[in-house]
Amino acid sequence: MGHEWMGMVEDVGSQVTTIKRGDRVIAPFAFSDGTCEFCRKGLYTNCLHGGFWGQTHDGGQAEAIRSPFADGTLVVVPSSVEGDEARLRAILPLTDVMGTGHYAAVLAGVHPGGTVAIVGDGAVGLCGVLAARRLGAGRILLLGHQESRLELGRRFGATDLVTSRGEQAEREVIELTAGGAEAVMECVGTKASMDTAVAIARPGGSIGYVGVPHGIEQINLERLFFGHIALRGGSAPVRAYLPELLADVLAGRLDPSPVLDLTVDLDGVPSGYDAMDQRKALKVMVRL
Ligand SMILES: [Zn+2]
Repeated sequence: MGHEWMGMVEDVGSQVTTIKRGDRVIAPFAFSDGTCEFCRKGLYTNCLHGGFWGQTHDGGQAEAIRSPFADGTLVVVPSSVEGDEARLRAILPLTDVMGTGHYAAVLAGVHPGGTVAIVGDGAVGLCGVLAARRLGAGRILLLGHQESRLELGRRFGATDLVTSRGEQAEREVIELTAGGAEAVMECVGTKASMDTAVAIARPGGSIGYVGVPHGIEQINLERLFFGHIALRGGSAPVRAYLPELLADVLAGRLDPSPVLDLTVDLDGVPSGYDAMDQRKALKVMVRL
């Protein structure tokens, strides 16, 4: 298990050219060769030779990990951050949730001064708030149900919190935006969240969906059709965005570290999963 990791390089293979022993590196949640047709298009999660940690390759909740395609996959973190615990914590979420939230914002077409609605107050949705603010959104509506998470969303830059559910939430967003949000970020992946995203998109707008779809068999295609609403989503090619997001963290312009609200050691991993399962923790950091 474990697809969101950072570590120190102990050794490198003979064909590795850009990574060296002693480097601190971060990995996106998928590995990729960086050279195939899809990697060259920035679609790293469709790499012809790639895969996912914890699925086709061992994950990062371990004493050590071997990375295939180190040159294509890993990103070196400058040594200037060594000893800066706060900065290191801010870098870790780039491996998945921050990169995924950013991808949702890109696909939704978030632009300076625009209005965006974010469905979901989990770690991805909250990072989506940071991403939308970073891309200059003027108004950020966050839809969720858990007070502490919504409060964090407010700290991250959400301007409006919508806590009702279903059609009531949809009505509220449509009223608050006088007709719907031009950019919608769907960050959950359930039928209910997708229905809400489709319902609150403004005619001519875009929905970026990054929640892995679970049990979504139907979608209101008529509303998308007659509303000229684009629906774009996918498993975020986080590798494409790591350099720019890392630069912003290093410059102090981006800090997603508050989503890491519980820390355990390797033996404490099961209790970390329990805490997330019981909604007592948003995102757990494992320290060796
Ligand atoms: Zn590739």
